[in-house]
Amino acid sequence: MKVIPIQAARVPAAPFAGGPLTDTRGRWLRDLRISVTDRCNFRCVYCMPREVFDANHPFLPHSQILSFEEIARLARVFVGLGVKKIRLTGGEPLVRKQVPRLVAMLAELPVEITLTTNGSLLARQAQALADAGLDRVTVSLDSLDDATFRAMNDADYPVAKVLEGIEAAAAASLAPVKINMVVKRATNDHHILPMAEHWRGSGHIVRFIEYMDVGSTNGWRMDDVVPSSEVVRRISERWPLEPIDPNYPGEVAERWRYRDGAGEIGVISSVTQAFCASCNRMRLSTEGSLFTCLFAQSGHDLKRLLRGGASDEELRAEIAAVWQRRDDRYSEIRTAETAKQRKIEMSYIGG
Ligand code: SF4
Repeated sequence: MKVIPIQAARVPAAPFAGGPLTDTRGRWLRDLRISVTDRCNFRCVYCMPREVFDANHPFLPHSQILSFEEIARLARVFVGLGVKKIRLTGGEPLVRKQVPRLVAMLAELPVEITLTTNGSLLARQAQALADAGLDRVTVSLDSLDDATFRAMNDADYPVAKVLEGIEAAAAASLAPVKINMVVKRATNDHHILPMAEHWRGSGHIVRFIEYMDVGSTNGWRMDDVVPSSEVVRRISERWPLEPIDPNYPGEVAERWRYRDGAGEIGVISSVTQAFCASCNRMRLSTEGSLFTCLFAQSGHDLKRLLRGGASDEELRAEIAAVWQRRDDRYSEIRTAETAKQRKIEMSYIGG
């Protein structure tokens, strides 16, 4: 698989003088997504296709991935730069051992801590994660139909286990649980209504995600995308919906509520309704590189500074410099050609 260039940290960036940290498009740095592992026990066809991520795939050795102490130190620097929310991702974050220990370290910071998981290991860990200080959890679930779900996660894993994980999360007061369904035409789009129906009135929130050209290995085609407008129309024809305001500026999902009071859904429309103008997310990869966009083609190595004895001030200056130079807007410029470009794999930086 092609290697993504990682730019070594340039000469130490000028100290960041403080104040609002904005990029070249005036976007604030608000959310940090931290990938704690590049490994996963699923092989979802739109993220880690098995033919690429096979038994010979060179996953990162433990010595190369950031320790919890290194992650917590960087998180503290990011919070000092204005980060309000940290999302733990992977690969599948819960395949890494002792994630509750990392959550407890991050819980010392004035920041919201969330986690995105495929739910397969959640039932066993939900209470420990909540006790450690996790605020919320998002679970990926692409269908309630076992055959379709197994076809999409290509790991022969039953839906029932993921539903158990969601129940355990709710019991551990990690509710409302957000449930992410990636919709791919002629693969699972016929399960949009059953998914909506199942979670109506549950208090949990399903978000329907447009299938994206993440990475360079999922064979993405525009024909396989079901636009969010179609998802909303299909559901609204059955249960009328109305739009509601975002919870905060830059929220990824567009919110819709059922007129009959049965709760809300969300749609995430990176392909048909780009939201780059308010994108306030930075990503930290498993081995300590910064990525300023989900569709980035290169990253910025922070680990060399971190393990090279840099002070918090130097790390702060470097992170600020990376953000201040940022001008990403991939979803606004996506074409069939750009979709074929070499891009960082989502499993390496988290969704
Ligand atoms: S394409 Fe990149 S810049 Fe645009 S919303 Fe997604 S992550 Fe942000």
